[in-house]
Amino acid sequence: MTDMSGDNKQSDDFENVPVVSCTRCGREWELTYELDELQAGNRAVEQFALDHERHTGHLPDDISPWIADCENCPAGEQFLSKRPAKRWAVTHARHTSHSIDLISPDGDEKTITSDDSRYENSN
Ligand SMILES: [Zn+2]
Ligand SMILES: [Zn+2]
Repeated sequence: MTDMSGDNKQSDDFENVPVVSCTRCGREWELTYELDELQAGNRAVEQFALDHERHTGHLPDDISPWIADCENCPAGEQFLSKRPAKRWAVTHARHTSHSIDLISPDGDEKTITSDDSRYENSN
């Protein structure tokens, strides 16, 4: 009648450190830096992925970005969630009247035009 399965308590602060790998770099990273220094919390993976893309030009494994890609000019960015991707697209359309393809991680494509930015134009 001994059930010790729950008796495994050590200081488990660091047991859940996420690990991100990148086959292009052939490396793996524990995100202790993102958690400790950047206080990125549960966005550590996102923070790491964006930093990785910024510094190497590609995203690590298992990261599926939202892509905003302008049809009219070379502007384009990758984002890890829909909201900033859409905001970027709407803002770009608002300032340039360009059309932007907004591509979801599933491959769904939506075109953002300057019409989509009008709702912000309440005055
Ligand atoms: Zn890499
Ligand atoms: Zn553009």
